[in-house]
Amino acid sequence: MYPAPIETYFAPRTIDEALKCCAEAGDGAMFIAGGMSLMQAMKARLVTTRALVDLNEVEELSGLAKGPRGVTVRPMTRYRELAVTTALHGAMQAIGDAAATVGDRQVRNAGTIGGSLCWNYVASCMPNVCLCLDATLVLASLEGGERTVPIEEFLVGPLETARHDDELLIEINFPASKHHGVASAYKKYGGTVDGLPIVGIAALIEVDEAEICLDARFSVGGILPTARRFEGARDILRGRPGTSEAFAEAASAAADAIETQSDHVASAHYRKVLIRTLGRDVLAEAHARATGG
Ligand SMILES: Cc1cc2nc3c(=O)[nH]c(=O)nc-3n(C[C@H](O)[C@H](O)[C@H](O)COP(=O)(O)OP(=O)(O)OC[C@H]3O[C@@H](n4cnc5c(N)ncnc54)[C@H](O)[C@@H]3O)c2cc1C
Repeated sequence: MYPAPIETYFAPRTIDEALKCCAEAGDGAMFIAGGMSLMQAMKARLVTTRALVDLNEVEELSGLAKGPRGVTVRPMTRYRELAVTTALHGAMQAIGDAAATVGDRQVRNAGTIGGSLCWNYVASCMPNVCLCLDATLVLASLEGGERTVPIEEFLVGPLETARHDDELLIEINFPASKHHGVASAYKKYGGTVDGLPIVGIAALIEVDEAEICLDARFSVGGILPTARRFEGARDILRGRPGTSEAFAEAASAAADAIETQSDHVASAHYRKVLIRTLGRDVLAEAHARATGG
């Protein structure tokens, strides 16, 4: 199907111009990034919009920067760049893991981390990874200026976020890690046609010089209403060496605690099995990276 007619198309070159275009277009205007999700929805007429504000020429929305307070990833950064950059190795390596496995080459060439967060499809990889890595998001609008939203408040439900229609996502910030022995990992499992996972798991592990766990974070995607963190992983792993028994215990506790749904792709029980098995492997991978293994 063809999309419903679009009355106005804007191609701004700066954030300020993008916000002005959105305000000028008024109600019903939408930003478009890689178009990988939005165009499909428009073609199916699940979404109709009178005006499109295309972000592809806004250079200041692309790329990443590392500073003493952490890493800033700009929303128009494509999966293909995130998959190969070494700037994210260590604490933020889960972003690269996820980016490398999104869709196919065409999707990775066009799709952006910001588009994925703002769309918040239930099985998407980036909302889950950003939740695990404690991201904070900066949103800007002409009327309201800038505001900072923690990722757990931003992700509301399937295809729903805390972003207002006139707000542009301009930064995704990740805190700097205090220690060297910290790393993250992401794995997904699922054989749907579009490559979206049944379940995706992100984990972060921090260790001391003796390779004892100081901190652990664990989150699950592919579940309703949106990606969820399992805080119990920290309590189970803190003070313990990174053994496969410890990781299996933490992943099993996550599977017990997290509610899963049955749908046309998998049963609720199967999703729990995946959280148990994949979860153990992702924790082990993050630990191996954190200890230089
Ligand atoms: C064949 C296929 C396979 C896929 N496989 C996977 C997969 O395995 N894993 C996965 O995670 N995803 C997958 N996806 C989805 C893909 O990740 C999309 O790229 C992503 O969901 C949307 O990113 P986009 O840049 O294309 O955003 P768009 O489609 O352009 O936009 C999505 C939404 O975000 C809004 N938006 C975009 N940028 C901003 C911004 N800066 N500020 C405010 N609003 C903004 C738009 O208005 C729109 O509502 C797949 C998609 C396809 C087509």
